[in-house]
Amino acid sequence: MSHLQVGILGATGVVGQRFIQLLEEHPQFEISALAASDRSQGKKYADACTWRLPGEMPARVKDLIVQPPAPPLDCALVFSSLPGDIAGEAEDSFARAGYPVITNSSSHRMDPDVPLLIPEVNHDHLALIETQKAQHGYKSGFIVTNPNCSTVMIAMALAPLHARFGITQCVATTMQAISGAGYPGVASLDITDNVVPFISGEEEKVEAETVKILGQAVTGAIKPAPMQVSAQCNRVNVVDGHMAALRVKLGKRATTEELHDALASFTSLPQELRLYSAPAQPIIVRPERDRPQPRLDRDAGNGMSVTVGRIAPDTVLDYRLIALSHNTIRGAAGAALLNAELLVTQGYLTGL
Ligand code: NAP
Repeated sequence: MSHLQVGILGATGVVGQRFIQLLEEHPQFEISALAASDRSQGKKYADACTWRLPGEMPARVKDLIVQPPAPPLDCALVFSSLPGDIAGEAEDSFARAGYPVITNSSSHRMDPDVPLLIPEVNHDHLALIETQKAQHGYKSGFIVTNPNCSTVMIAMALAPLHARFGITQCVATTMQAISGAGYPGVASLDITDNVVPFISGEEEKVEAETVKILGQAVTGAIKPAPMQVSAQCNRVNVVDGHMAALRVKLGKRATTEELHDALASFTSLPQELRLYSAPAQPIIVRPERDRPQPRLDRDAGNGMSVTVGRIAPDTVLDYRLIALSHNTIRGAAGAALLNAELLVTQGYLTGL
């Protein structure tokens, strides 16, 4: 099978490096273009980027010259990990120029005609692509987003419960890793020996994105899930791996065993299609009383599984549980790759 040539916008950052690492041996995609800020443009990637992941910078990208994040780029589609404030315009210009854009950035997540995709949860939302193309006059270009790095594990943990028991309320308290803020991110003097109870814009994103993801695709739009979501987001002194303490109110009565079963047996289209980045088990339920933990569970399913534990009756709402996932893999680059793999199987990336 020949590889599709891909470009990465924001290639030198925390998420950009993860893309490069995850694409090194990918069977369908091959990196042919890299873009970043004017600090890096015109340099070889090896000179522009300080590689901060374990292992060596892949040889294939070392000599690629870093480009501006604007079309034309020598590739068939782009993965974007640009900062939110500049991503929107750059991504629009690529879509207008005919490139499919698969992005981590927040700019377009809540656009009514842009899929906010978790392939296991709402693959039917891909139908929005046709509306988007018609509304913007895009020919081969379009934009597909993945959720915020905390929303993804919350929405994945809620999805099987919502499908079986109908969640009416959810209270989420997150404990988010330092790498979620990019590099250099939070100052060491602010986060060492500390918890910071504020992440700009995060609570609003978790609340709005969750009901869009769990919503219903109706003709050309998404009807948000009829669920109240309340989020409080905290930055904690962990390098990788976001965690969320969740409390849920259910529409139907259920036992702890039924919740456990709904989560542990959850499987979906990416597993059926055996997509390359899809974990065998999207949700892993840990029975131990002290799991999940970031250091022990963030790499489950190569960083693509969500680990859930501590499922128990709650004294205020109906049930409580803890969810955890890897913020730069399932929460960012891995999520975008899985989206792209699904788009290939659904015929959206043919003929490029
Ligand atoms: P980062 O480490 O700060 O990297 C930012 C990247 O964008 C770098 O490649 C940087 O290039 C480039 N860039 C910055 N300003 C630019 C400009 N004016 N023009 C062009 N390129 C510019 O950030 P990150 O953590 O990788 O996050 C990237 C995006 O992904 C953000 O939108 C973030 O919200 C989202 N995201 C991050 C995570 C996470 O866990 N970190 C998870 C989900 C989503 P230079 O090196 O040349 O400056």
